[in-house]
Amino acid sequence: MSYDLCVIGGGISGLGIAKEAQLRGLKTCLLEKSEIASSTSDNSLRIIHGGFRYLQSADILKVIESMKEQESLLKQFPDFIVPLPCLMPLNASGLKSKVPVSAALTFYDVLKFLFRAKLKRGKVLTKEQLPEISYFSQLKNSSFLQWYDALLLEPKNFSVFLAQKLSESGVDLFSKTACLGISRKSLGYEIACNGGVGDFLLSTKMVVNAAGAAITTIPLEGIKVERPQIKWLRAFNLVMKKQISSTYAIGIESSSGRLFFAVPRGAYTAIGTEYLPMTDNSPEVKSEEVEVFLDDFNSSLPGYDCSSSDIEKIEIGILPANSAGTLFSKKKLLVDGKYCEVVSTKYTTFQSQARSVLDTLLSK
Ligand SMILES: Cc1cc2nc3c(=O)[nH]c(=O)nc-3n(C[C@H](O)[C@H](O)[C@H](O)COP(=O)(O)OP(=O)(O)OC[C@H]3O[C@@H](n4cnc5c(N)ncnc54)[C@H](O)[C@@H]3O)c2cc1C
Repeated sequence: MSYDLCVIGGGISGLGIAKEAQLRGLKTCLLEKSEIASSTSDNSLRIIHGGFRYLQSADILKVIESMKEQESLLKQFPDFIVPLPCLMPLNASGLKSKVPVSAALTFYDVLKFLFRAKLKRGKVLTKEQLPEISYFSQLKNSSFLQWYDALLLEPKNFSVFLAQKLSESGVDLFSKTACLGISRKSLGYEIACNGGVGDFLLSTKMVVNAAGAAITTIPLEGIKVERPQIKWLRAFNLVMKKQISSTYAIGIESSSGRLFFAVPRGAYTAIGTEYLPMTDNSPEVKSEEVEVFLDDFNSSLPGYDCSSSDIEKIEIGILPANSAGTLFSKKKLLVDGKYCEVVSTKYTTFQSQARSVLDTLLSK
């Protein structure tokens, strides 16, 4: 079997890259060692970020990329990605108080106008103007930010939909097929695979390694990439059986300064996201870690009082950070010839990431 491009990893990064490759007319295959999108991509908090929060770090390019990607995803996939109204209590002073936040909203509106983003405008509300959220009545804050982001309804359904479209358009999808190694050959690359039919080899002109936290574990022969030091973090959300709002996502800061997002999941609420160093190479989350997280959240939203018995599910994934343990703020593409590694940090930007990967490989 021979291809123009072989994509390793069937998370959202791999699916997006295979989709972009097919659009560009490349004969493409994708290898996934387990089920499609069963790893980190199935455990996201499901927010498709419009970039408003990145204004805080003054990263305007990132704001614009997120805004454009959010707008494009809402248009392309209205059955899977929908507008998400959000609320956040504002502080009495500092960056997260009424005046700076109102100024940021105005600036964000200008960007939205320039880039033709159509989601509703955000505004600052008084306590009296708040929609009914019983847990907010006990908060002492007098102003609240209301803004709009977007929500991916069901990652699993979305991935299955993308995979079906890929198959229909001629991409060869090999699920339950692991890449065992990649070797450079004179005219391209050879991929050693293990799947339902046992061990087999593929040949390809280009390779993208989008295997998430496993990218560094795939043996390479004749390929050298300058990898930054990556420290992998465990990241988790708790899905609680207690609803906060059926409509609104809540952003709220605890007294320790941790920012939580509580996102509606039908009658439940998903609260995230916690980032912790890996221990013993395992993404497992300990009960003490869950307790600390819940205590902190309870302290930020008086009256909610959730305990571990209210947990429906813990969603866990692995994300890349720098050596100091700070989450990578941007995707990284590591390239040698026609081999590219993708270190992804966001679900939201999977399509712009795919375009960068293909632009990079095809320009070589
Ligand atoms: C708790 C949590 C909350 C998050 N919330 C958000 C959010 O709200 N919004 C947002 O935009 N982003 C969010 N993210 C980030 C986002 O989910 C990830 O950046 C994204 O899903 C990474 O996708 P990926 O395809 O690169 O990796 P993965 O999903 O890990 O996919 C890699 C795939 O490669 C496969 N693989 C590994 N080794 C091999 C091999 N040898 N051969 C073949 N296949 C292999 C794996 O089985 C896996 O399916 C969150 C992440 C976490 C963990």
